[in-house]
Amino acid sequence: MSLVVVGSMAFDAIETPFGKSDKIIGGAATYIAWCASNFTPVKQISVVGGDFPQSELDALTNRGVILEGVQVKKEEKTFFWSGKYHLDMNTRDTLETQLNVLENFEPVVPESYQDCEILMLGNLVPGVQSSVIKQMKTRPKLIVMDTMNFWMEIMLDDLLHTISLVDVLLVNDSEARQLSGEYSLVKAAKKIMAMGPKYLIIKKGEHGALLFHENEVFFAPALPLEEVFDPTGAGDTFAGGFVAHLAKTKNLSFENMKSAIILGSAMASFCVEKFGTQRLTEINMDEIKERVQSFVSLVNFDIELV
Ligand code: AMP
Repeated sequence: MSLVVVGSMAFDAIETPFGKSDKIIGGAATYIAWCASNFTPVKQISVVGGDFPQSELDALTNRGVILEGVQVKKEEKTFFWSGKYHLDMNTRDTLETQLNVLENFEPVVPESYQDCEILMLGNLVPGVQSSVIKQMKTRPKLIVMDTMNFWMEIMLDDLLHTISLVDVLLVNDSEARQLSGEYSLVKAAKKIMAMGPKYLIIKKGEHGALLFHENEVFFAPALPLEEVFDPTGAGDTFAGGFVAHLAKTKNLSFENMKSAIILGSAMASFCVEKFGTQRLTEINMDEIKERVQSFVSLVNFDIELV
C-alpha cells in the first residue's frame, strides 16, 4: 500500500544526562522516513530552509524516499527544536522551539502522491496536517496522526478538528491525560476515541505502548535496554515502523496492528541507542529481524493453571 508521510524536518539540539549534541538532523518526518524506508517506499511532505544539508536529502533519496513534496525555502531557516531529558530519560523539557519555515508552511500534495492509501501525519502544525487530508482527492484507507503537548497548549481547537478526521491517533501517556483530562489511561482512551479516532495508541516510553480499539486493548512492551543514549525520535520511529508494517502487509485489521506496534517498538529500540537519527541510518534487515525475535522471546510464555 502506498505510504505518504507528513511532518517536520528539523535541526535538534539535545541534552541528556550523558551528553549534549550540537545542532543535529531531526524532525518527526525525518525519523519516520528513515525507519519506514526499511520496509516500503515513502512519499514525503515537509519543508526545510536553505540551511538544511543537501547531503541529508540525498541520503533519504538513496533509500527510496521520494521528496517531491518537500519544499526547500532557500531564504529561510529550518525548524529548530531543543530539549533536555531528565535522569529517567522518559521525560523531557522542551527548551526552545523555533518554527522558522514551519510558521507559514502551506503543503502542496503532488499529483504523484494522490495514490496514497496510508497517510502518516507526523508531528506538525495541526492545520497543516488537516490541509494535507483535504488535498487528497480520494480519502486514504487509513489516516494515522501523531501530535504533542505543544499543539494542545497553543492550538487546541485546530488540533481537535484534525483529530476528528483521523483513524489512528498516537500520543504519549502524559499527552493522553492532558487531552482527555482523565488520569486513568483506560478512561482517557475512551474519551479520546469519542473525539474521532477508532484506534488509539498510547506510548509509555520505556514501559511500552498500548493499542486501544472499541473495548479491546493490546500491550507491546519496550525492550529492556542496558543503555538508552537519546530517546529523541523514538515516538516517530515507532510510528514509522507501525505504518510501514501495515503498508507492506496490506492489512489494516486490529490483529495486524498488534504486529505493527511490535515492529514499531523494535525499531524505536534502535533509535535510542545513539544520538539523533544516527543508529537508524546504520541498521540492516538482519539486525531488525534479530531485534523482532527478541520481542517475541520477551513476551512469549506458556501458562497452565492447575
Ligand atoms: P519524539 O521524540 O518522537 O517525540 O520526536 C522528536 C522530534 O520531534 C524532534 O526531532 C523534533 O525536531 C520534532 N519536534 C519537536 N517539537 C515539534 C513540534 N512542535 N512540531 C513538529 N516537530 C517537532
